[in-house]
Amino acid sequence: MNILFIGPPGSGKGTQSKRLQDRFGLVHLSTGDMFREAIARQTPVGMKAKGFMDRGEYVPDSVVIDLIRDRLSAPDCKRGFILDGFPRTEPQAEALDGLLSGMGLKLDAIFQFDIAKQVLVERLSSRRVCRTCNQTVSLDQVKQAIEKCQNSTPNTCDFYQRSDDAPEVVGRRIEVYETQTAPIVGFYSRKPGFLKVDADQNQDTVYGILERALGPV
Ligand code: ADP
Repeated sequence: MNILFIGPPGSGKGTQSKRLQDRFGLVHLSTGDMFREAIARQTPVGMKAKGFMDRGEYVPDSVVIDLIRDRLSAPDCKRGFILDGFPRTEPQAEALDGLLSGMGLKLDAIFQFDIAKQVLVERLSSRRVCRTCNQTVSLDQVKQAIEKCQNSTPNTCDFYQRSDDAPEVVGRRIEVYETQTAPIVGFYSRKPGFLKVDADQNQDTVYGILERALGPV
């Protein structure tokens, strides 16, 4: 089963990806995570991406497409995957179509995460990420998440604020989404398996909607 998530930053794509990945045994393909990892390892791709990410801009299409082409050809993707954060532009959507048909694959489900802009600003500004396990929580849940981690070993929970979640960058990211990604939603909405989901509900409710739409495993 191959799934595509499309929606603005902060709409919950990453959170739901992690849950569905475990439930359905899928590979989570987050281009944002791939870039953050490349930056941490100081690879050439990471070096290219860093400036764009820090400003809340998109990384050039050619860099992202090369990255996803390599990743999709890895054997683990045969299990099925969740695309989270790709494609975000028209050329990326066209490239994905070409890649999938070249591999004899298709998207089985396409979920659009629909949510108001004001909610996003609030969510992104209070978002914290764990350096160790990559879980994402809001500021008011950090204490509880650390306590939960303390019961597990090794206890290495370490929450931080992503540099692009800084208030001065958040607005730019939403703007970039609206100008560059929102236009491709129409293209996907005409494809089979498309479902628009109200993402301004608690994460269990959203998860229930996705799980029901995907049907029995
Ligand atoms: P979010 O969805 O919260 O914005 P991500 O972790 O998916 O966060 O992405 C973080 C950043 O990584 C983006 O703002 C952008 O700079 C870069 N990025 C990720 N995916 C893409 C993509 N498909 N095209 C261009 N840039 C990307």
